[in-house]
Amino acid sequence: MNINCSKLHRPVRVRFAPSPTGGLHIGGFRTLLFNYLFAKKNNGTLILRIEDTDSLRFVAGAEAYIEEVSQWSGVIFDESPQKEGAYAPYRQSERKEKGIYQAYIKKLLDSGVAYYAFDTSEELADQRKIMPNFQYGIHTRDALKNSLSMLPTEVETRIARGDKFVIRFKMPADETILLHDALRGPISFQTNQLDDKVLIKNDGMPTYHFAVVVDDYEMDISHVFRGEEWLPSAPLHVLLWKELFGSDYMPQWIHLPLILKTDGKGKLSKRDAQKQGFPIYPIDWIDPNTQEFTKGFKETGFLPEAFINFLALLGWTPPHQKEILPLNTMIDNFSIAHIHKTSAKFDFEKAKWFNHEWMKKKCVDDAQLFTEVVYLYCTNRAKKQADTYNQDHFEMFFKPSIIISLVGNCYVLDDFLKYYQLFYPVNSPISYSNVEFTKLLQQLSTISYKVLTEIYDSLSGQQNFDDSQFLEDAINKLLLSHQIKHKDIFPFLRFSLIGQLHGLNIFWIVKILGKEESCNRIKNALGSIKKIV
Ligand code: GLU
Repeated sequence: MNINCSKLHRPVRVRFAPSPTGGLHIGGFRTLLFNYLFAKKNNGTLILRIEDTDSLRFVAGAEAYIEEVSQWSGVIFDESPQKEGAYAPYRQSERKEKGIYQAYIKKLLDSGVAYYAFDTSEELADQRKIMPNFQYGIHTRDALKNSLSMLPTEVETRIARGDKFVIRFKMPADETILLHDALRGPISFQTNQLDDKVLIKNDGMPTYHFAVVVDDYEMDISHVFRGEEWLPSAPLHVLLWKELFGSDYMPQWIHLPLILKTDGKGKLSKRDAQKQGFPIYPIDWIDPNTQEFTKGFKETGFLPEAFINFLALLGWTPPHQKEILPLNTMIDNFSIAHIHKTSAKFDFEKAKWFNHEWMKKKCVDDAQLFTEVVYLYCTNRAKKQADTYNQDHFEMFFKPSIIISLVGNCYVLDDFLKYYQLFYPVNSPISYSNVEFTKLLQQLSTISYKVLTEIYDSLSGQQNFDDSQFLEDAINKLLLSHQIKHKDIFPFLRFSLIGQLHGLNIFWIVKILGKEESCNRIKNALGSIKKIV
């Protein structure tokens, strides 16, 4: 055993230890990310340990989901159930089967730090009815059914006849537990306020509290990064460490602050995200038991680089204050000293800004690769919404030049698809029977109609179609010669092109559609207008 290892020269080994009870909240993912950044910065090892000792809350697919998130985000584990290293197995249920926890619980029982408790759940529920603040512990244990209140012979008889029991930790009275958190400094806890937690359940499975301590030790974990919701459990973990392994080998604790709701009032929840329509998981998740759907960043059109960059900075500030950081730069600059001590507010607009910046950066770094990513993403998305996919239109729209010219207007990859749908509406060809449009047509003077036809002639005769400045000059000249203002003609022109009266710049639309498509659409519109005026 490594109990004598010197803490100073200990290799960095960190773990992400999810319980497979569902998808992964971005708060959990950020914990994983910080573990990863710290491990890589210190030439250390990142472990995935599946804490599946609670069979009632086990959800099939939750582990596979974490592996999928890891692959998508590039936050790769060095050791995991799929990539076993020297510390296998990496699932606690399998570790239990190997008998890893047995010797340790025996040690605690032998030294009197743990004890058997035979109370049934009904009996405990009755206690709670009598005492609303009931805690199994220092003040109550003597009056309950356990090996501290019974004669040893009775305990033996009960065990021999197969009575169900749990094993609890005997919280010492009147002690102050001092925990040194690398982020928060020293924190003290009074044992009199803590209860006697269950270490082994009545099905023989270890609880989280017991297994986490044994496994962190067994797996040589040097630093524990986890959410601050585990802080109240930390004194128990410290006591268990001391009892089982002494304090020398205890890992360094880092309890990370929460991610707050957008308004800063409380922890960001799945419900908040659903209400406000933003993703809260890295990847879409459908709960296999309830069929409840939770939206992911990936399917909302986020690049993994932007997602991890946004989340890393939601709780950590690199020393140079720059915001757009590739993973390697984050690794090089990562340190516990720059992790925030206070909780950060989630801001979806900021997340989109990161994605926007990353898309622009990708376009500069490797335009070809980026345009392929956009094409693939949009094809997959559109095929899922079958009626929006048309291969010919896709080929026409998703050209590298168009993607590059659109990137400055896009915040998520889905925005490219929205533009596509705008340029190639589902009900293509555009219907010119829109009420608003027909109303406008009533006001269309003969002269405007003439100008529209002249615009058509000018565009169809245009040699330099790709030069939008040239196009703009030609059309402005034409309008000037007829004393017609943009606002009198552009809504008609825009509607002819994309079925919208307002919004996008005409010259930009024309450039994206190209000469043939633009002229065809104007021609169709002119045909319909002629019928009406
Ligand atoms: N299994 C715990 C969880 O689901 C791990 C907590 C810890 O990192 O100690 O979050």
